[in-house]
Amino acid sequence: VTRAAELVATGEELLNGKSLNTHARELGRALWPLGWELARETTVPDDRAAIADAVRQACARVGLVFVTGGLGPTEDDVTREALGDWLRRPLVEDAAALEAMRRRYRTAGREMTPSRRSQARIVAGAAALPNRAGAAPGQRIAWEGKTLFVLPGPPNEFRAILDDHVLPWLAAQGGGAAPRRIFMVAGLGESDVRERLEAAHTLPPGVAIAYCAAPGQLEIRLRTAAELSDAEARARLEQAWQQARAALGKHIYAAERRSLAEAVAQELRTAGKTVAVAESCTGGLLGARLTDLPGSSTWFRGGFLAYANELKENLLGVPADLLEREGAVSDPVARRMAETARARCGADYGLAITGIAGPDGGTAEKPVGLVFIALADANGAEVVRAHFPGDRATNREWSVQRALDLLRVRLAGAPAAVG
Ligand code: ATP
Ligand code: MG
Repeated sequence: VTRAAELVATGEELLNGKSLNTHARELGRALWPLGWELARETTVPDDRAAIADAVRQACARVGLVFVTGGLGPTEDDVTREALGDWLRRPLVEDAAALEAMRRRYRTAGREMTPSRRSQARIVAGAAALPNRAGAAPGQRIAWEGKTLFVLPGPPNEFRAILDDHVLPWLAAQGGGAAPRRIFMVAGLGESDVRERLEAAHTLPPGVAIAYCAAPGQLEIRLRTAAELSDAEARARLEQAWQQARAALGKHIYAAERRSLAEAVAQELRTAGKTVAVAESCTGGLLGARLTDLPGSSTWFRGGFLAYANELKENLLGVPADLLEREGAVSDPVARRMAETARARCGADYGLAITGIAGPDGGTAEKPVGLVFIALADANGAEVVRAHFPGDRATNREWSVQRALDLLRVRLAGAPAAVG
């Protein structure tokens, strides 16, 4: 069964927009496979009362609570005091932590000052968790049947103590995650998926579904209720997965967490094919997305970034009169760009994008967000006209994803995208 944990993250900077709370993500990811789930996260400023209050509430709900940040040597680092007050336990200096800190400062050629030394104090009765990446140790505190882990704020120190002490301790408690399955969908929106799934079946009892949408790709998680036995959970999850596969078919592009670009790369590798690109409004984003992947040189040939019409003419062989007659954002120009990219780069596939990303440049006939995406192979080219309703960045992102899906669908022999 999966058990619940909470995080209390402390720090003004997490609330005023200066820093992103990455501990929540790291912890959520790390806990799941061990049978724990990060059920809630609370962020509070560096304030004793606020910290104590948040920890008290978390302990009222769950048996495992993490408190991060505010273990440093300065006045705004008040976490250990806040916990000591709340638990009515004194702070005591941990001899081993102090010794480790002495060594650390000596090596760095720095003095052991009283404020630095104060970092060696832990709540009485706590286990000190050595910090290989920094000065302040972490702490594991047992209190009324609950476990509190107190960890430093700097992400590398947080991660070091998590890996060295917290995760091994949790693993030793036994358990394991309730079965779940993650899969990826392209070419359908969230509501399309929902309607298809509901039209086909109702989910088996005890199985819940969650959606996480990003431009052009959708992550879907099927998870089982904690009360189910392991065998029962696995059986129902398998049933739900088979239903989803039947309802969504080749729109499912991966049976694990994976980007569309990674899926396309995999298909290209398997098929032993290569691709080249010609981009206008995406300014190289498609090429960047593909070459972000290690090993891309085996299947990515290269491409053209042709913004100006002269370049579309000279580099991509789009006739001037075609540009004049149809405009740069048009079906025949996209087609020509894809065909030429393919031919000039010696690739199996040519993928081209031309559109109006916005916010300016739209007309009544060709509004902002209008994009033509072309895919060329030895048998000619296919062109998709799309109209994305977002801002510049979103339209560019959607254009890249739609282009990738066009290629994915061709490689997989899958049905064409809708919507
Ligand atoms: P220090 O000894 O560096 O003062 P500390 O344990 O007192 O460590 P904080 O002062 O709260 O920790 O934060 C130190 C650094 O760690 C800051 O840069 C802060 O932005 C970062 N940090 C703290 N909490 C988080 C978090 N939840 N996610 C990401 N970064 C964080
Ligand atoms: Mg600090």
